[in-house]
Amino acid sequence: MFDALRRWRRERVLARAALPDALWNDALARLPFMAIYNDEELARLRDKAVLFLDAKSIVGARGYEVEPLQRVIVAVQACVLVLNLDLSLYDGFENVILYEGEFVPAWEWEDEAGVVHVNDNPLAGEAMQGGPVVLSWADVEASADWETAGMNLVIHEFAHKIDMRNGAANGCPPLPADMPEAAWQETLTAAYAHFSNRVACGDATVIDAYASENPAEFFAVLSEVFFAEPALLAYEYADVYQQFAMFYQQDPASRAGLMHEIA
Ligand SMILES: [Zn+2]
Repeated sequence: MFDALRRWRRERVLARAALPDALWNDALARLPFMAIYNDEELARLRDKAVLFLDAKSIVGARGYEVEPLQRVIVAVQACVLVLNLDLSLYDGFENVILYEGEFVPAWEWEDEAGVVHVNDNPLAGEAMQGGPVVLSWADVEASADWETAGMNLVIHEFAHKIDMRNGAANGCPPLPADMPEAAWQETLTAAYAHFSNRVACGDATVIDAYASENPAEFFAVLSEVFFAEPALLAYEYADVYQQFAMFYQQDPASRAGLMHEIA
């Protein structure tokens, strides 16, 4: 009964809020890493994007006007992470807030001595537990193409959101029953130590050094690589790639490997 109701609601949203072809194609054209997906996958992704846009408000901050194309570009990238997972991983928050450029978050933090500090470092993006995802549009646009940016802001912040489904972001998202947490922790911990050591030694890698910040950032940055330059992750951290392939239920490198050469 409940399932039937949910299905009915889903069909109603898909019919009512369908995306025009031109808008959809325009968004995909700006995201070159999406080229590996076939028509069946893109059709499912489009449905997820429609449901995502129905459930979330993507709004501009400080009078910034958000265009429909910007909303679709954010939705496509958010939904590629959950293409084969349940969209309910994004339950529990309602808004995606877009700033025109980098923004200074309003939050304060208290140090061990009890002194309250106001953060004044500008950010490109932020994912808040139980709250919105905040993005700088300039950085969304600049990181849409991995080839030129070497990063992907939207995937990064939504990977944090998935990580936060089972408590504060710690680099371990809610794993399905057939994925032992011990194997995940062992693989990710070893790779994180290895990567942090490379960064400390100045050992050049294309993977963003920010991944060495903490295990939560490691998960978010490597998720960017998994989706936007999968062959690179499969080459540099094959065992992490395997864990991510099981978790996200995708194997993008098996197709992308044919398209990109590892330098
Ligand atoms: Zn982050």
